[in-house]
Amino acid sequence: MKWKQQINGMKAYQPGKPIEEVKKEYGLDEVVKLASNENPYGFSPKIKAFLQNDHTNHAIYPDGYAQNLRTTVANHLGVKETQLMFGNGSDDLIAIVTRALLYPGVNTVMAHPSFSQYSHNAEIEGAEVRKVPLKDGVHDLNSMLEAIDDNTSVVWVCNPNNPTGTIVSDEELNHFIKNVPSDVLIVLDEAYYEYVHSSEFKNTLHYVNEYPNVIIMRTFSKAYGLASFRVGYAIAQEDTIAKLDPVRAPFNNTILSHKVAMIALTDQEFLQQCLEKNEAGKRQFVEFCEKHQLHYYPSETNFILFEVKADSDVVFKEMMKRGFIIRSGNALSSPGYIRVTIGTQEQNAKFLNLLEEVLKEQGVFA
Ligand SMILES: *Cc1c(COP(=O)(O)O)cnc(C)c1O
Repeated sequence: MKWKQQINGMKAYQPGKPIEEVKKEYGLDEVVKLASNENPYGFSPKIKAFLQNDHTNHAIYPDGYAQNLRTTVANHLGVKETQLMFGNGSDDLIAIVTRALLYPGVNTVMAHPSFSQYSHNAEIEGAEVRKVPLKDGVHDLNSMLEAIDDNTSVVWVCNPNNPTGTIVSDEELNHFIKNVPSDVLIVLDEAYYEYVHSSEFKNTLHYVNEYPNVIIMRTFSKAYGLASFRVGYAIAQEDTIAKLDPVRAPFNNTILSHKVAMIALTDQEFLQQCLEKNEAGKRQFVEFCEKHQLHYYPSETNFILFEVKADSDVVFKEMMKRGFIIRSGNALSSPGYIRVTIGTQEQNAKFLNLLEEVLKEQGVFA
């Protein structure tokens, strides 16, 4: 068949191992997944209550325009309804932007390591991928500016960055946005936006009003605990959204996902509780790293990337045997490191005890 040349040899996204599979393989009763940055507290109890009494008719198509959710999100953010686009997760939004703007002959600029879907989608479209190494785990925006040329179509800023959890400051971002040519789309992927505490990070919504080439992506998958419902949204100027919207599949969310996302937004109290617990959990990891002198990146998210001074794949496997699924740094272009989602206080304590045992076994410390 006449396959696109670029998909030859391409691999599908490698998700973390499913919990059930790990239980079976290692004969474990309990397995905790700290690999995909899901919210360990799940979603709002208001959503749970709603789902128990829900009688949605799933035989009919959802509202492809997501009118009710659109109104809710627009009011929540203080933007116009026409400035929003909803995706089947922000993964979908990344694919839409890529499909609309990337093709053979143009290039796209991104940090490395960063979220893998930017390059994956770009490669499918046959565009040239320009990866600019992080500097101390942070986007090197000046080098990214230098990598942009007349053929650049999209530049990606993952802020905070996955897998390092670091942010670029508003000051740096401001300078960057000012200097990117106006015909290059700047994607600000803010999947972990809600988790950020640093005062150096400022709300980016005003950039959308000032610059037609800025698009922000956020999601209900992480802090709102709705990963399985697949809802992400993009914010840009009306004209930019109008250009992108025809590329979107007509019914890319479900009726139920629209409903639960709306409820999630109304329960800001639950969100705040999750964010506070996440901060406390992060401190458990930071203390562990400092105690054992393991390098870590300052995280503004619900995960942390830190050094293990051992083979990441070995640590990954040893932790899996002990009931914890994490991400090996090898899979994230960060050898010698592991990326761990911040769990509940209890999960974190148990995890760190077992990690200490594994690292002792590996001869990292006595
Ligand atoms: C998790 C994640 C996404 C994708 O989230 P969706 O579930 O598709 O909304 C996008 N960007 C980054 C950086 C992520 O970590």
